[in-house]
Amino acid sequence: MATPRIGFLGLGNMGGAMARRLAASSYAVTGYDVDASRAARAAAAGVTLAPSPASVAEASEIVLSSLTDPPAVRRAYLGPDGVVSSLRPGMTLVDMSTIDPDTWREVAAAAAARGADCLDAPVSGGPAEAGTGQLVFLVGGEAPVLERCLSVLKTLGAEIHHVGPLGSGHVVKLVNNVMSMGNMVVAAEAMVLGVRAGLDPQRLFDILATSGGRSHHFLKRFPKVLAGDFTPHFSVALSRKDLSLALGLAASLGMPMLATSTVRQVYEAAHAQGLGGLDMAAVTALYEQWAGVKVRGAAAGSGKEVEAGAP
Ligand code: NAD
Repeated sequence: MATPRIGFLGLGNMGGAMARRLAASSYAVTGYDVDASRAARAAAAGVTLAPSPASVAEASEIVLSSLTDPPAVRRAYLGPDGVVSSLRPGMTLVDMSTIDPDTWREVAAAAAARGADCLDAPVSGGPAEAGTGQLVFLVGGEAPVLERCLSVLKTLGAEIHHVGPLGSGHVVKLVNNVMSMGNMVVAAEAMVLGVRAGLDPQRLFDILATSGGRSHHFLKRFPKVLAGDFTPHFSVALSRKDLSLALGLAASLGMPMLATSTVRQVYEAAHAQGLGGLDMAAVTALYEQWAGVKVRGAAAGSGKEVEAGAP
């Protein structure tokens, strides 16, 4: 099969890195973003810009998207100049955003009415992995549709998990993020407790890094916390969005989520304190403020310090 022409909707931290990588790997990529500065950065790396999602679809066989949230996905696909309005039979749409499964099933039903297929393929990994082809894809949809997209996904990801039917990739992603964001809050609360009780932050981290309570996010994010660096790799704002999507999914299934409801309120509090644009690890700054201590190590001062309470 000839190399498919790729459309890309959403050229932000993740989508921009993926679109640039595809363009650098000899794919013809046509992109669109509502934010002109993000679109311009992709254009500088070889992505052809289109004036609307509909015109992206006209120039592509496979349309990929990495958009902010469900309303953005709805607008880009189902809006007046959305992708679905100019679909051709045989096209494939692959959403890599973190959204709820029902929104994507709605897009898929509209696409199927015009002869196009859909996959959900949300990702694990951040902008660095997106730019180096090291993402992990969680795919929902039919196996033959995935087969058609495999070479494109393999350019972007090191692992591709075919989870099950359409929507199931999005479910796995929300489940993963419930665990990730919960682990981050528990680690923040525990570390601040230890420091408040008089332990040295760096020594505490070093010991916990080999102890039973550690988690992926503890190991990945606390070296940055110790350096006072809250540069966003995955923001408080995105955490808040994903937790509310997970709670919405649970509510639709009639399932109580007691711990996740509390975890979500921690991210809400961080957002209310003006920390929404910082890394999810900035929930630590809330506990620091409440306890009157800082979790900082020898390298502190090399990063961007935050004060919970600052606007
Ligand atoms: P981002 O905010 O940097 O990028 C989203 C882009 O979508 C922005 O450039 C925005 O202008 C654009 N956009 C919004 N509405 C649009 C529309 N209607 N049409 C076209 N463009 C539109 O966010 P990101 O970090 O790149 O994340 C993208 C998605 O991937 C989110 O759903 C996020 O939850 C998920 N995700 C992010 C990470 C991460 O580490 N950043 C990791 C895994 C998954």
